[in-house]
Amino acid sequence: MPLAERFLTHRVENQVAALCDYDAFATDAALQESVRREGGGWAEPMLADFGPVAGGELMRLGFLANENLPKLRAFDAIGQRIDEVEFHPAYHRLMQLGVEHGVPNFSWRNEQTPGAHVARAALAYLHMQPEQGHNCPLTMTHACVPALRQQPALAREWLPRVLTPHYDGRCLPAHEKPGNTIGMGMTEKQGGSDVRSNATRATPAGSPGPGEAYELVGHKFFFSAPMSDAFLVLAQAAGGISCFLLPRFLPDGTRNAIRLQRLKDKLGDRSNASAEVEFAGAVAWLIGEEGRGVATILEMVAQTRQDCLIGSAGIMRQALVQAIHYSRGRRAFGKRLVDQPLMMNVLADLAIESEAALSLAMRVARAIDAAPRDPQEAAFARVATAIGKYHVCKRCPPVVNEAQECLGGSGYIEDSILPRLYRQAPVNSIWEGSGNIQCLDLLRALRRDPATREALVAELRVVAGENRWLDAEVGWIERSLGDGSVPEAHARLLTERIALALEAVQLLRAGQGRTAELFIATRLDGQHGQCLGTLPTDAPFDALIDRAFPEP
Ligand SMILES: Cc1cc2nc3c(=O)[nH]c(=O)nc-3n(C[C@H](O)[C@H](O)[C@H](O)COP(=O)(O)OP(=O)(O)OC[C@H]3O[C@@H](n4cnc5c(N)ncnc54)[C@H](O)[C@@H]3O)c2cc1C
Repeated sequence: MPLAERFLTHRVENQVAALCDYDAFATDAALQESVRREGGGWAEPMLADFGPVAGGELMRLGFLANENLPKLRAFDAIGQRIDEVEFHPAYHRLMQLGVEHGVPNFSWRNEQTPGAHVARAALAYLHMQPEQGHNCPLTMTHACVPALRQQPALAREWLPRVLTPHYDGRCLPAHEKPGNTIGMGMTEKQGGSDVRSNATRATPAGSPGPGEAYELVGHKFFFSAPMSDAFLVLAQAAGGISCFLLPRFLPDGTRNAIRLQRLKDKLGDRSNASAEVEFAGAVAWLIGEEGRGVATILEMVAQTRQDCLIGSAGIMRQALVQAIHYSRGRRAFGKRLVDQPLMMNVLADLAIESEAALSLAMRVARAIDAAPRDPQEAAFARVATAIGKYHVCKRCPPVVNEAQECLGGSGYIEDSILPRLYRQAPVNSIWEGSGNIQCLDLLRALRRDPATREALVAELRVVAGENRWLDAEVGWIERSLGDGSVPEAHARLLTERIALALEAVQLLRAGQGRTAELFIATRLDGQHGQCLGTLPTDAPFDALIDRAFPEP
């Protein structure tokens, strides 16, 4: 017997290699259709080019970047403060691919073409599936643009470098680099949701006023992507909470007084560094008027909230395709898992949930895109972002858990992407305004601006008469909205039911009649268990699974 065979204990059979090297765009019919439906069809060639990158190189880099986590280098070898974070080359390559393909800049570079935000949402959806941590700085860089534009001189200086498709991860003054990234600092120890409690003080370095330099003394408890070239931060000036642009290096090339105290030891999002920082007289430039800081930074937060919605839809999608792929390759009790009726029900139900989340995210992207030209779309975007962020981010953890279970024990092991998706799943509902804050934001908008209620009702009625359960649900929502004065304690139930109805509307708009019918029956009409996989037995399981991820 050959030596190699003498010690052979068994042959490896019936194991499924994790899905990698696939075309994430070509295999996603729902994404392709939604891009066209919402007005971004002209960007399909760009998305088609990106599909194999998202399903290939980004997947491999994602594993590397999460095995080699960022390290804080607060001091150099001779004890001088340098306040740097060291990343593995895989992280920088992820950032480079994201920037070069346009994740933080595509919509602004193509702003004059309707649908640019839709196309960029699709790009972000693809980009966020293989690795989520590095998307935090990409999202913040994309999101800073409307806020930065409020101070034209600063915008003129910074935006050309923010919007360039060049990534430069070196720790150098921003003006010495071809491309810059931007972070955001609001949350302090005594309050995150309630940013008005910010205690960091801002004192004018010379004359006060918009565009002028101030010195900041204080801290931020959460300060993600601390290696960014500049940050939009909130601090208390004489006129109240104000928004500042805080660069890492000063114009003379010296380091700004931003002290990285420690990196957070996080549940997920681990490839991304999130720091606790202190500002020891750091110099920052005022954006807008003193006292208008919350309104100014909310221009940025509106964009990051949209990315939470897209990101959670993307995580669900990645979990779904991994589950379908595994179930096709694995056999139990004499049949492939994907041919077992109960597993088919689970996979089909996951597919419905994923498509509903994507459809809502893309509809919100269209509203954001059209907002500058269309007041009704602007009003819809204002409320639908909060509704979508609340609901889709909340659905993400149970969806990922169910997909993980489809892989059995292997879904719990780090060789697969599922454990990483599971750890990442809760974060989008926590940051950028946690669940309750989204619901309260909806109530505030409804109370302050009747146009938001009208825009919401108009959208819910787009498919009136097509499904009687949905019509009844829309009736309940309209009655609950009343004159806009909804009790706070009622906000979660109302937000959830609006989100479900909006998802059903999008599925009907998409022409997915049977999917919409199943969605409505199981989510709106109560014919559903607490867990996924409880579709009626006559549901077209095969068709739903094949549409979600066609068999090669
Ligand atoms: C991984 C990670 C990275 C982060 N990165 C950044 C960053 O880069 N920059 C930054 O500024 N922040 C960042 N954050 C902070 C994040 O945005 C905050 O944690 C979040 O906004 C909540 O603030 P908080 O932690 O102070 O909780 P709190 O504000 O104390 O809220 C705690 C809970 O109370 C609820 N709540 C608050 N007010 C009300 C109310 N009136 N009614 C009912 N419920 C209420 C909230 O919804 C939440 O569930 C990050 C957080 C995480 C986890």
